[in-house]
Amino acid sequence: MPLAPATAAALRDAGVPFEEDVPLAKRTYWRVGGPADALATPGDAPTLARLLRVAAEHDTPVFPLGNGSNLLVSDQGVRGIVVSLVGELTEAHAVGDVLIGGGGAKIAVLLTRAAKHRWAGLEMLAGIPGTLGGAVRMNAGTALGEIADRLLDVDVALPDGTVVTLPKAALELRYRHSTLPSGGVIARVRLQVGGDWGESEARMRHHLERRKATQPLDLPSCGSTFKNPPGDAAGRLIEACGLKGYTVGGAQVSPKHANFVVNLGGATASDIDAVIRHAQAEVHRQFGLTLEREVQYAGVWT
Ligand SMILES: Cc1cc2nc3c(=O)[nH]c(=O)nc-3n(C[C@H](O)[C@H](O)[C@H](O)COP(=O)(O)OP(=O)(O)OC[C@H]3O[C@@H](n4cnc5c(N)ncnc54)[C@H](O)[C@@H]3O)c2cc1C
Repeated sequence: MPLAPATAAALRDAGVPFEEDVPLAKRTYWRVGGPADALATPGDAPTLARLLRVAAEHDTPVFPLGNGSNLLVSDQGVRGIVVSLVGELTEAHAVGDVLIGGGGAKIAVLLTRAAKHRWAGLEMLAGIPGTLGGAVRMNAGTALGEIADRLLDVDVALPDGTVVTLPKAALELRYRHSTLPSGGVIARVRLQVGGDWGESEARMRHHLERRKATQPLDLPSCGSTFKNPPGDAAGRLIEACGLKGYTVGGAQVSPKHANFVVNLGGATASDIDAVIRHAQAEVHRQFGLTLEREVQYAGVWT
C-alpha cells in the first residue's frame, strides 16, 4: 500500500530519505517476506527523530529494522514505515575505554574493528549477525555473556521528535528481553570495553569453532527460534518430540540443531510460521511447556 500522500509529503519536507514499496526479503536472514509500504533510511539521530515525529503526527506505524537476523517478515509485508539506519548511525569508534556505536552498526564490523584496536570484552557478541540496536533490543548474547554485561547507556529517538539518553537500568534487560520507550528507536549505544585482549580473542575463537560444529550456518535461518525455558534447552525439547527434519514447504526444523528453522530454498514466511507453530504445539502436547518465541514477527499476520 502506498503511504498517504500527506505523510509522504511531510517526510520529504522533514528531509527524511525514503522509498516506497520496498522488498524486504533480501534484508532478512530467512530471505522471506513481502514489501514495506516505505523504507526510510535516516543517516543521523536528528533525521531519525524527525522521521518518528512525522510518522506519529500522521498516525503511521514505524518498524525498526536492524540486520534482519531475528525477524520473520510476513508474506504480506509491513504496513507503514520500516526504518533502516545508515550513515553515521552505522559507525563506531572508541573514546578511551568506551565504545560508541550507531544503532545500525553491524556487530561483525565492530568485532573486526575491536580486533584491530585490541578492544577486549565484546567476546559475548561473537557470531551474532545483528546490529548494535538489534542486539540491545534483544539483549543478545551467547554462552560467553550478553550485551547487557558491557552496556553503559543508549540514545533513543522518540515519536515526540526528541532523542534521550537512557542508562542501562532503564532498559530492564533480561534474557533476550528489553523494555524500550513506546515507539523508540535506538540511535546510539555505548559499551564499556577493556580487559585482556589475548584472553578475549582465545575465548571467541573457541566459541566460534563450537558454533560451526553444532549449528546449521550454511542455510538461511534466524539462529535460535525459541528462548530456552528455565533449566532446559528449546532444541532438546523439540528434538525429543522427534521433530528434527520436520518440513513444511521450504522450511525445516534443522536436522543439525532442532532450535534452528532453516529455509531449504523457496520457503515462504507462512511455511516458517507453520513449522514454528507445530514445534510449539508438539512441545506443549508432549511436555506441557509453552515455548516462547525468540524470533520477532513483523508485518501483517492474519
Ligand atoms: C546464524 C544466526 C546465529 C545467531 N546467533 C545468536 C546468538 O548466539 N545469540 C543471540 O542473542 N542471537 C543470535 N541470533 C539472532 C540475532 O542475530 C540477534 O537477535 C540480533 O541481536 C538481532 O539483531 P538485528 O540487527 O538483526 O535485529 P533485527 O532482526 O533486524 O530485529 C530484531 C528486533 O530488534 C528490533 N530492532 C532492530 N534494530 C533496532 C533499533 N535500532 N532500535 C530499536 N529496535 C530495533 C526490531 O524491530 C526487532 O523487533 C542469531 C541469528 C542468526 C541468523
